[in-house]
Amino acid sequence: MNAFCLTAVLILSVISAAGQTSAADLILINANIRTMDKANPKAEAIAVADGRIIAVGTTKTIQAFAGKTTTVIDAQGKLVLPGFNDAHVHFMSIGNLFSSIDLSDAKTEADVISQFEKFARYLPKGRWILGGKLDPSIVIDRSKVDAATPDNPVFVFRGDAKSAFANRAALIAAKIDEKNLSEGILSGESIAAMQRVVPVNHVRDWMAIAATASNYAASFGITSVQDTHSDDMASVYRELNKAGKLKVRIYDCVALSNWARLAAVGSKAASGDAMVRTGCLKGSFDEEEDTSTITTDIAGADKAGLQVLVHAIGPAANSSALAAFENAIKTNGGRDSRFRIEHAHNFKPADLQRFARSSIIASMQPNLFFAEGSGISDDLRKLWDGGAKMAFGSDAAIKDIDPILGIYAAVNAGGKRSLTVDEAVYAYTLGAAYAEFQEKEKGSIEVGKLADLTILSDDIYEIPTEKLRDVKVLKTIASGTVVFEASFAKSK
Ligand SMILES: [Zn+2]
Repeated sequence: MNAFCLTAVLILSVISAAGQTSAADLILINANIRTMDKANPKAEAIAVADGRIIAVGTTKTIQAFAGKTTTVIDAQGKLVLPGFNDAHVHFMSIGNLFSSIDLSDAKTEADVISQFEKFARYLPKGRWILGGKLDPSIVIDRSKVDAATPDNPVFVFRGDAKSAFANRAALIAAKIDEKNLSEGILSGESIAAMQRVVPVNHVRDWMAIAATASNYAASFGITSVQDTHSDDMASVYRELNKAGKLKVRIYDCVALSNWARLAAVGSKAASGDAMVRTGCLKGSFDEEEDTSTITTDIAGADKAGLQVLVHAIGPAANSSALAAFENAIKTNGGRDSRFRIEHAHNFKPADLQRFARSSIIASMQPNLFFAEGSGISDDLRKLWDGGAKMAFGSDAAIKDIDPILGIYAAVNAGGKRSLTVDEAVYAYTLGAAYAEFQEKEKGSIEVGKLADLTILSDDIYEIPTEKLRDVKVLKTIASGTVVFEASFAKSK
C-alpha cells in the first residue's frame, strides 16, 4: 500500500468513526462482480458485516464502510461471483480420495513429492498419508518429503510389498530412530513397528474425512454442497462446524426409506442452521421397475413436509419419476415441494414440458454427462428455454468437484444450442440454492444474504469458451471469511 492509499484509508476511517456509516468486517473493492441479482446484475464492491452482505455498490461508496478493523480485499479487477453451490455430491467419497495414496504413476522423486504435497494440501493436520505402490527404484531424499508434509505422517509401501517409505513425522510416531534413515526406507521389524502406530480407524475417521472434503471443495470456489449420498452424516458435519473446520455449507440427504421415521419426529425440508441442514430424502428410479412402493413413499414424505430427490437416468426412469411426483402433487394439493430429479439425463422429448409444468427441478451434472467429446446434446438448452428450474452439480467423487469443468461442459455440450456462461453460473449458484430452499439466503450477491463469494483468475464471461477449463479460483470467501486462497495469489 503506498502513502497515498494509506492516507485515503485513514481519512475514510475517520469518516466512519464520525458515524456516517457503520464499519464493515470486510470490504471487497475494485471487482468485476456478476451478482446473479436481476435487478442489479453488475457491481464493483461489497461490504460485509457479521457474515452477511450489508452493501453492494461502487468502490467509492463501499470504501465508506472501512473502519480500523475492516479487512480490505482489492480484487484488482478480477471476476467475483456468488460462491458456487454443488447440488449433487457424495461428500465423504471426496474426502476418501485422500484416505489412500497410489504412487504407481510416479516415475521420479519429483512426481512422488508432488503427490505427497497434493495430499498434504487438503488433509487436516495429523492425518496419516497411507498407501503404496511406490517404485523401489526411485531414490527419495526424505528431507524433501519432510518439508512437503510437515504436519502429516507418511507411511507407504513400495511396489515390492516387502519394504516401505516413511517420513519424519511417522518415524517419530513409531519411535524409530530417524538418524540413519535419510532415504526413509523401512523393512521387517521397523514396518511392524510402524503398523502398530497407524490409526486403526483411519478409513472410518469421519471428522478427518469430512474436513478433507471441506478443504478440497473450498479450493474450487464452492461454499455450499448438497450431499446426495444416502448415509446420515449430519452429526459429523455439525461437530466439524463446532470445531470451526467446516468451510462449506452442507444439506445432508438420507435414503427415502427413512421418511416415516423422520416424519414421526417432525423433521422438515431444509431444517437446521446456515451451515448444516437436513430434511431431504433420496430415492431412485431404474429403467424397469415396479414403482408402486416408491410412489407411495414419495407422496408420504412430501405430505410430511420433507423434500424428495430421486435419481433417474434414461427415458423410462425419468417418465416414472415425473409420474410419481405428479401423483404426489395431485394427492397433497400443490405444496412448495421442490421435487428434484437427480441427473434427469436422457429423458423422452415428449416429457420435456412436464418439468416446468409441475415445477420439478432438473438437478444435472454437465461434466458427468456432457464432458468433452461425449454426449453432445441440447437438453440443457431445451430445459432452460422450456422454463424448467435447473441446478448444477458434479456428482463428485465420480467426477472432479471443480464447478469450472461443469460450466465448461454446459457451455460447450450443445454446440450453438449450449447454455450461456451466465445461465450455467446461475444453475451453479441461485438455481442450486433454490433446489435446497435457500434462494433467500444465498446464491446471489444481494444485501442481507450470506457473504459467500469466489474470485476467479479470469473473466469467464469474456474469454473464449474453450479456454474456460484453465480458469482457477484465487479466493473463496464464506460468511465473509477467506477460507481458501490460491498459493500463487497469496497476499502479503
Ligand atoms: Zn450421485
